[in-house]
Amino acid sequence: MKLSDCTTFKISVPNRRHHTWASKMSTPIGHHAVVRLETNDGIVGWGESPAGETWGGSDMRYYGETPETVCHMINDHLFPAIKGMDPVQISTLHNRMDKVVKGNPYAKAALDMAIYDIMGKALDRPVCDLLGGDFRDGIEVAHSLGIMPVDKCIEEAKIAVDEGVLTIKCKTGLDANRDVELVRRLREEVSETIKIRVDGNEGYSSVSEAVRVTKAQEEYGIMFCEQPLMGARDLARVADRIDSPIMADESAWTMQDIIELDGLNAAQYISCYVTKPGGLYRAKQQADLAGALHMSVDIGGSIELGIGNAANLHLGSALPNAILPSVCPVTKPKGCKGPEIAGIYYLDDVVSEAFDFVGGRVLRPKGAGLGIEVDIQKIKEYSL
Ligand SMILES: [Mg+2]
Repeated sequence: MKLSDCTTFKISVPNRRHHTWASKMSTPIGHHAVVRLETNDGIVGWGESPAGETWGGSDMRYYGETPETVCHMINDHLFPAIKGMDPVQISTLHNRMDKVVKGNPYAKAALDMAIYDIMGKALDRPVCDLLGGDFRDGIEVAHSLGIMPVDKCIEEAKIAVDEGVLTIKCKTGLDANRDVELVRRLREEVSETIKIRVDGNEGYSSVSEAVRVTKAQEEYGIMFCEQPLMGARDLARVADRIDSPIMADESAWTMQDIIELDGLNAAQYISCYVTKPGGLYRAKQQADLAGALHMSVDIGGSIELGIGNAANLHLGSALPNAILPSVCPVTKPKGCKGPEIAGIYYLDDVVSEAFDFVGGRVLRPKGAGLGIEVDIQKIKEYSL
């Protein structure tokens, strides 16, 4: 079996509402790169990359990518380097990709995902089995409230909870008073039992501001606080002065970052997902390293469509330490049954079937590979 053909697409899928966070306030979600790989014996695998130009590491350590750079890297550098290789040899494939392109994990992740999809289809096994087996069959959904007025957040959170969500994630970081008020009102008006997590996306301007906001939010009960500000050393200064655990996301791109975070006592949790480390292969390695350092992970991401979401759900199923509620969307193509608001960010999808949402959890698709059927008509409809 050899990798023989590669096609890339740039797509844009309509949003349910404008979804924002502190480092992404203007560009809409859903502008993603999609890759279709094929082998010489006709097996097809799919990958997706929700690359964003404003999404990089702390202090410019890692650069933003876009669907355009992802397609360029794949077409002009990465695929030519792996064409003709056996898709089962995942370690050598990554080694080859890393030799021809430094960095650019979002481009490598799209190929890695498609390669795992092919491997699974060739072996008739789900991708989670190729990562070591399944610890669970889905991930608890944290419904993400983008940065919106507090009233609008409360209104949406009430519907999401009525539809079965058990955890709310608040995007914060731009307005300290609003961020405290939001958590206070969620606790009072939505439910005493919902779990609340907050994500500042590096938005706070100082250690003292991050500490003040988080301590005030702790009065109303938060599970943990994600990346309130930039840089591992400042995260450590915040961690020292608050009670809740800190999750690193923008500060955790590589194995070296995780070792540094641990050394500084900067984070107890890591946001781990397929794209940021450069694919499922590296994500599994990073999560295992985090586990060895007694850190738990969530399955984060960038509001993937069905292809990337399936990959994240297979990853989350296979990680013993992926125990935290995560912003895995509830994939639901137009016209399919499912929630209207809970875990829903798009009005349509590029896969044919909705993912099951049961007991506050989104279940990974069953079947070989990623377990999804991609609707090529939808890819064409939403191509840019
Ligand atoms: Mg985050």
